[in-house]
Amino acid sequence: MSAIIIRQGLVVGEHVNTVADVLIVDGRIAEVAATIDAPSDAHELDARDCWVGPGFVDLHAHLREPGREAAESIESGARAGALGGYCALVAMPNTEPALDNVALVSYVLERGARTPLDIAVAGAITKERRGELLAPMAEMAALGVRLFTDDGVGVQDPSVMRRALTYAKPLGVRLAQHCEDEQLAAGGTMNEGPLSGRLGLIGRPALAEELMVLRDIELVRLTTAPLHFLHLSTSRSVQMVLGARDEGLPVTFEVAPHHFTLDEGACASYDPVFKVHPPLRAPNDVAALRDALRRGVVDAVATDHAPHAPELKDLVFDEAPAGMLGLEHAAALTFEALGPAGDPRTFFQVLSRGPARIAQLRENDIRVHHSAHGAAMVSGEDANVTVFDPRSHWSVDRNALESRSMNTPYDGRAMSGRVRATIAKGRLVVDQGRLT
Ligand SMILES: [Zn+2]
Repeated sequence: MSAIIIRQGLVVGEHVNTVADVLIVDGRIAEVAATIDAPSDAHELDARDCWVGPGFVDLHAHLREPGREAAESIESGARAGALGGYCALVAMPNTEPALDNVALVSYVLERGARTPLDIAVAGAITKERRGELLAPMAEMAALGVRLFTDDGVGVQDPSVMRRALTYAKPLGVRLAQHCEDEQLAAGGTMNEGPLSGRLGLIGRPALAEELMVLRDIELVRLTTAPLHFLHLSTSRSVQMVLGARDEGLPVTFEVAPHHFTLDEGACASYDPVFKVHPPLRAPNDVAALRDALRRGVVDAVATDHAPHAPELKDLVFDEAPAGMLGLEHAAALTFEALGPAGDPRTFFQVLSRGPARIAQLRENDIRVHHSAHGAAMVSGEDANVTVFDPRSHWSVDRNALESRSMNTPYDGRAMSGRVRATIAKGRLVVDQGRLT
């Protein structure tokens, strides 16, 4: 394997940032130093004015394979992810059929191994994600699965969730919950409030999410099993989880870019591209999520990348499936939300180090199929590295995305900051913002 030299970027370490060269040889970071004499055949990347840090890890990618390959495939999702600066994706299990057994998990791992990225798998908590019988988590854990979720829906029955937490704990894996009480949210298509009333759309109340967050915090207290809260969207949800974390409970949470950049007002267009579960919330919730991000208390930004083929998504608001694309613009939206004074360490914390820890993809974790992620940016580490240009300006064109789908809510929107290069498993996968 040939060498890559990244010149004079701001290398964002775990504790300090320094302008330096980074030399990558044979899939590893060989050296980080002020100036390096690189081998003459090394591929040179000019990273002046750029941030150089650990490659992004997405905890929440719906890659749609098997079952809905018209919307996305593992291969197209990996391309979209690479362009977005991701070196590892956690594939969600709400495929058709659901990833609730070793045969299907093995299939996705094998397909993932053919892509340049590391594709990890989240297994289902319950068989067919029906919320009734537990899936064989121990068998899937033996294949390297470290996260389990019925995402798309939460586990509704508290006794099933309690059993799942109790079962998961000795396996050393983590459950992840999509928090929405389906009875409270029933039939709802957008956030419940004065606006949903005016628009004549049925609402999904904030309480549908918050009740399950509250319930699950108590189940974690009871079982002491770790739990990750997916895509929290309200101010109270975040407050509750932060409170539980401060008490020492083993809880983590993620926020999704659409929840900290868009509010329910977008639904006034009746454009189903803005339909998502949990829904886009009121402006004060959006502000609270941004505030948490800026304060550095968010464990992870996760995309909830949810491709839908156009013929499905172009239905009326009530009937269209929920979900929007995320992989190709999450980093720019996170950069913007952190603001001009944003600390590059917070940026790489929420996009790489935090999610790598939650998914157990770091150097010191037990890894079965994957290279290590969330690096400290020192020599000897596996070379999963992203070069981000905070000065770049671009705009989203839904026709130009690598995803097989076009359901981005940001079509035509101006963006600040862009991934310039992605080096995954030591290979230059994206250079100058393009796939190599
Ligand atoms: Zn979800």
